[in-house]
Amino acid sequence: MSALNFNKRVHNFCAGPATMPTAVLQKAKHDLLNWHNSGSSVMEISHRSADFIAIAQKAEQDLRKLMHIPDNYRVLFLQGGASLQFSSIVMNLLHGVADYLDTGIWSKKAITEALRYEQAGLGTINVVATAKDSNYTRIPDVATWQLSDNADYFHYCPNETIQGLAMFDLPTVNAPIVADMSSCILSMPIDVSKFGLIYAGAQKNIGPAGLTLVIVRDDLLGKANLICPNTQNYQNQALNDSMLNTPPTFAWYLSGLVFEWLLEQGGVHAIYQQNLEKARRLYACIDNSDFYHNPVDKNYRSIMNIPFTLSDSSLDKVFLEQAAQNGLLNLKGHKAVGGMRASIYNAMDLTAIDDLVSFMQHFECQRV
Ligand SMILES: *Cc1c(COP(=O)(O)O)cnc(C)c1O
Repeated sequence: MSALNFNKRVHNFCAGPATMPTAVLQKAKHDLLNWHNSGSSVMEISHRSADFIAIAQKAEQDLRKLMHIPDNYRVLFLQGGASLQFSSIVMNLLHGVADYLDTGIWSKKAITEALRYEQAGLGTINVVATAKDSNYTRIPDVATWQLSDNADYFHYCPNETIQGLAMFDLPTVNAPIVADMSSCILSMPIDVSKFGLIYAGAQKNIGPAGLTLVIVRDDLLGKANLICPNTQNYQNQALNDSMLNTPPTFAWYLSGLVFEWLLEQGGVHAIYQQNLEKARRLYACIDNSDFYHNPVDKNYRSIMNIPFTLSDSSLDKVFLEQAAQNGLLNLKGHKAVGGMRASIYNAMDLTAIDDLVSFMQHFECQRV
């Protein structure tokens, strides 16, 4: 049993697996034992059954609607998390050189993984620039990027979940753009046609862990290296509707419910307006006080993950304790950055932000 007892749902600011819309969980609960009078749970039926294929196709159609995904893109529902994609991308796409932008812990992990394939002789990994010099508080000036002439792809992470550093402008590069959107997919409108490949673990801004989305342009299929495992081969998965082997059926179904919910909210544009307002209120609280601090350059602040420190870090523990007593959970920052972090994905509503801001203001008043 957890240390605190709640008889209702709390505001859960966890970075991932993260909070899900209550309406989605209620629907899943309703369907759990007997989905649509089929007499079985979704997790008990074959992925080859007509029932499950209908669920799978509906989820894909709704995602295509939400993101306006063009017809020349495949949507893959895979396993292994975003971390396995760090390898899959290389095995599917690298033949000469690949460019990588280092903007934080996640892009760095992608680079580290890619370098193993460089060592194995698959090609060259070129880091075009690093945000390290600013301690990951700003995106390096494009003019300084050391881009390759004929890169197979350019990899970057538009939203660094741990540092709270975001890049809103599309990189101006010639190579196909590969983006790790694990913590920002569906948070704001994007033009999918500008990307070669988008990938995301579902457990941040969609919901259930166990599912990894890959959205890949047709012309990038069929280029995999021989060492690429069958299940990681984009072409093979595309040809088999992501059912080369058993897909994560229940996570796929739950994601479909989240896509339906998002459409009911008015789609990505509507949720983006709410996300902007949520972030604005929380940053305003931080910036209007000398007690809280966020180091990220204002042009590059994430609207999904907002880290902040207290001016006196010896108060961190009591801040977290009192926040939890007020139903504000999982605000502890990543150990690499310290302090606090509020992850405020799509499923987090304005009330949660207002409750957090009130708590923060009250906590500050008690100390100064
Ligand atoms: C969480 C996260 C990952 C890792 O995701 P897994 O599904 O756990 O492998 C990768 N990239 C970003 C940006 C993330 O936020």
